[in-house]
Amino acid sequence: MKEKKTAKKQVLSYERQNFWKEAPAAEIKKANDFAGPYKDFLNECKTERESVVWTQELLKAHKFQPLGKTKSGKKVYSIFRGKTMAMAVIGSKPVSEGVNMVAAHIDTPRVDLKQNPLYEDKSSDMACMRTHYYGGIKKYQWVSTPLALHGVFVKADGSLINLRLGEDPEDPVFIIPDLLPHLARKEQYTKNIGDAIDASRMNLVFSGMQEPGNEEKDAIKLYALTLLNKKYGITEKDFISAELQLVPAYPARDAGLDASMVVGYGQDDRICAYTGLKALLDNLDGKSERTMVVYFSDKEEVGSHGSTGAHSIFIQDFLASLLSHNGEDSGSANLRRTFMNSRILSADVTAAVDPNYPGVHERQNAVLFNHGVGISKFTGSGGKSVTNDADAEFTAKVIRILDDAEVFWQMGELGKVDEGGGGTIAYILANLGAEVIDCGTGLMGMHSLYEMCSKADLYSTYAAYKAFLKSK
Ligand code: MN
Ligand code: MN
Repeated sequence: MKEKKTAKKQVLSYERQNFWKEAPAAEIKKANDFAGPYKDFLNECKTERESVVWTQELLKAHKFQPLGKTKSGKKVYSIFRGKTMAMAVIGSKPVSEGVNMVAAHIDTPRVDLKQNPLYEDKSSDMACMRTHYYGGIKKYQWVSTPLALHGVFVKADGSLINLRLGEDPEDPVFIIPDLLPHLARKEQYTKNIGDAIDASRMNLVFSGMQEPGNEEKDAIKLYALTLLNKKYGITEKDFISAELQLVPAYPARDAGLDASMVVGYGQDDRICAYTGLKALLDNLDGKSERTMVVYFSDKEEVGSHGSTGAHSIFIQDFLASLLSHNGEDSGSANLRRTFMNSRILSADVTAAVDPNYPGVHERQNAVLFNHGVGISKFTGSGGKSVTNDADAEFTAKVIRILDDAEVFWQMGELGKVDEGGGGTIAYILANLGAEVIDCGTGLMGMHSLYEMCSKADLYSTYAAYKAFLKSK
């Protein structure tokens, strides 16, 4: 960040700077240009599987090779179970001297279909789908809004059928209808906001037609199954081995009169995934000393458990494979040392001050739009419970890297003390001995269908990751 040494106040005091006010014109242009392809990415990647496939294509275009399939390549990646992945550019120093890692997550809050979802509703004479939400959603946001159905069916023979319905303007979309206000007096208005929408009544209206003259029982459901069978070759049983997710059907777009913001679904945390990936790809000049790693984890929104979550062995296995690929000892002692020598940005979003609810933040220690990437020394809740509390030494190191690269940054806690809280994967990676700090973009409306970011902060996040990845 630029330092002005003209006045005593500016030497002695700290004040974050507004990107639009202070950044050079060339940087402002870059920030505006950066948002275009980012919106395309948000539209293409609405699930973790789609994010993995899209990223793999981009990596291939940049001559990255699957780890284990190449003997000498310096640009490698690994995908695990189609939902989590890591990619690396091997530096000139041994991997065991530690990597620079940007660690984001690519799962997002959403509404999943249940495993046996389809039924014919006798009260309305419609075919409906039962749902089960995933992650921390506010349920009232997901009713009476157009939804697209994304996911996969895996048939008994192992073959995979992709489904993506509701994104093409010609596609139908789906609705979980909300109750009309005229009749909501007892069902909804008497309840608190968390209970007003009952999760067991978030059923999707799937279809309404039946084949003319069909006298069979459940003819509407049968017609839906007939259509699905024609289009995808599936039967009702195939839903049991499917992963189907309802996501907002509309595309990301600019927001604000000045178009200085981006609204779109899934920016928690695909904004950090995208900026991390772009940062890596823009650092391919072969001059990096330390190995650069970008990690996309899954299941963060539900606690990072399971084989694809950050608690899984995958990221350790990835680094072990990098060690052996680079001709280094990949035994457990050397792997432990590699982690303990590593520096990690837990790349996840934080909450920017919302003009309607400034009271949930403590402004002096909260992230503001347009003031750069947000750094959080700790997350968690209450008395810093369940957190990686980054040490002062690493905090200083990261700030030095960002200052040297003239990146706009700011410190920010997620809300004021005891207001609530939230976590990231920082502590999971810190448990492996790495230096970790949270560093990501401030959003408004996090976990909503239309999350919003500032283009200045989007670009600053990219610039921060780029500087960090190639730092010595
Ligand atoms: Mn997140
Ligand atoms: Mn989240």
